[in-house]
Amino acid sequence: MTIEDTIRTEMMRLQELVRRLEWFKTKHSTTTICEEWDHKWETTALTSYDNGVVDEVLTCFTCGVERTRYYKLTKEETTDPWRDLREDEEE
Ligand SMILES: [Zn+2]
Repeated sequence: MTIEDTIRTEMMRLQELVRRLEWFKTKHSTTTICEEWDHKWETTALTSYDNGVVDEVLTCFTCGVERTRYYKLTKEETTDPWRDLREDEEE
């Protein structure tokens, strides 16, 4: 790796750091995190995998910490609550 490459990599690292700091300042200006029972959770990401595992990422919109919940799908059912109405439509 040349000196230029090393400097470029370091610059990118610093830019990322500044970007994160700016985001932190605008979104979550508190420097302390909430008490455990005081977080205001909001689901920010939901990923489901073929093996039935679901990851839910919750972000506290007060302090910005994240919690990930891992679910294992045990059963899946499809029901049609509109069946009677559909039958009416066909007649
Ligand atoms: Zn919080």
